[in-house]
Amino acid sequence: MEQTLKPCPFCGTKAELKQAHYLESELPYSYVHCMNHDCTLHNNTAHFSGDSEEKNAKNAVTAWNLREQIPVPH
Ligand SMILES: [Zn+2]
Repeated sequence: MEQTLKPCPFCGTKAELKQAHYLESELPYSYVHCMNHDCTLHNNTAHFSGDSEEKNAKNAVTAWNLREQIPVPH
């Protein structure tokens, strides 16, 4: 499943989808982040968990593209 990600709303850099697992519980989670290491959205993005990896990924991509759950820069 390939979905297009909009560029970062803050710096315009390309975004990427990441999949990982929480260490404590081994539950899968997904998030979309900005690939610019200096950008606030490189580390500071919402995690999506509690579902299958595919569903988590879809939720993360949808939220990113809708600009939902993206923190306000300080
Ligand atoms: Zn950015």
